[in-house]
Amino acid sequence: MSRETERRLEKLHQQLRACRLCKTVEGHAVHGPAIASKVMIIGQAPGVHEGMLGRPFAHTAGRTLFKWLFEATGASEDELRSLIYFSAVARCFPGKSPSGKGDRAPNAAEIANCSRHLREEILTVRPKVILAVGKVAISEVLAAAGVKKTTPLESLVGRKIRVRFHGHDVDVIPLPHPSGVSRWPQVEPGKSKLRAALRLIRREVAPLL
Ligand code: SF4
Repeated sequence: MSRETERRLEKLHQQLRACRLCKTVEGHAVHGPAIASKVMIIGQAPGVHEGMLGRPFAHTAGRTLFKWLFEATGASEDELRSLIYFSAVARCFPGKSPSGKGDRAPNAAEIANCSRHLREEILTVRPKVILAVGKVAISEVLAAAGVKKTTPLESLVGRKIRVRFHGHDVDVIPLPHPSGVSRWPQVEPGKSKLRAALRLIRREVAPLL
């Protein structure tokens, strides 16, 4: 079954690499390896470095994310990349933000376009747990649970939330965005909420890897 899942994912990755639906993004889709995993990470969108290196969370945000996950699971970045399936609500780099501070978040049209790819990945991987990273990914994955982009992170991070996402029932553990643009994870209440989320990952996600 897992070989069949990986074969289907490889086919999905071919479709992703060939996708040119959004005229507003830069470069081509970024994806990780085709891994049949019980755990999926859903991020926001790749940055310019991820686009150049061709892998998700390949730069500063990734360093922070893998540091958090190492604390929670004891697994190294290389191990986590071989154990977790990586996805995102938009798979191509959206470009820099007009203010010049960080990257532009993917817009509603780009997320809607890309949801066809994410849906196929969800229905192929059928994860038991999704780690939703950053407000954009959290509000997208938890929309059916009434979560919006304006829902405060402190009411979400540190919890496990059950939701039906693209027709698949799954537990979602929200994490803040690790880019460093937001100081939310470094100051209270974000600091304590992040610690609670990592404890949840240690208890609920590490045994699935
Ligand atoms: S963001 Fe998604 S839908 Fe848009 S071009 Fe890239 S892969 Fe295609």
